[in-house]
Amino acid sequence: MKGNWKGGVWKNNPKEYHKVWIEKHRERVNEQARKSYHKIMSNPIRRAIQNRKDLLAQNYRRERRKNHLIYWLGGKCQECNRDLINELHSLIHFHHPDNNKEAEIGQLLTSGSLKRLMKEVRKCQMLCYDCHRNKDFVTIK
Ligand SMILES: [Zn+2]
Repeated sequence: MKGNWKGGVWKNNPKEYHKVWIEKHRERVNEQARKSYHKIMSNPIRRAIQNRKDLLAQNYRRERRKNHLIYWLGGKCQECNRDLINELHSLIHFHHPDNNKEAEIGQLLTSGSLKRLMKEVRKCQMLCYDCHRNKDFVTIK
C-alpha cells in the first residue's frame, strides 16, 4: 500500500491504523494496561464493580454465541423436531453421540476460542432437555 499512515491507512481504514499503532507501541500499551489493572484491583469497590462487569460480559458472550449456534443448527431438536428458537437456553443441550468429548461446550461458550467451539459443536447433536435425558438414561442402561 502506498502513502504514509496519515495519507493512506488512517484515512481509509481507522481499524487497521489502530492495529498498526498498537503493534508499534506494544510495550507502552502493555505497561498502561498493567497500571490500570492494578489501580482497579487495589481498590475493593472498583474491584467489585469490575468483577460484576466481567461477569455480565461473560454472560452476554455466552448468550450471543448460543443464539448463533441454535440458528446455525436449524433451531430444532434433532431428535423430536421440537422448536428451540424461543426455548430457554438452559433447556437446550449439546449431546456427544460418539462419546468423543474433548471440552465442555458450556466452558467454550464463555471462554474458549470460536474455532475450538465450532470444532466441538460439529460432533454434537442439539437436543431438547427431554431427549437428552432419555439418551443418557438409555446409555447408562
Ligand atoms: Zn427433543
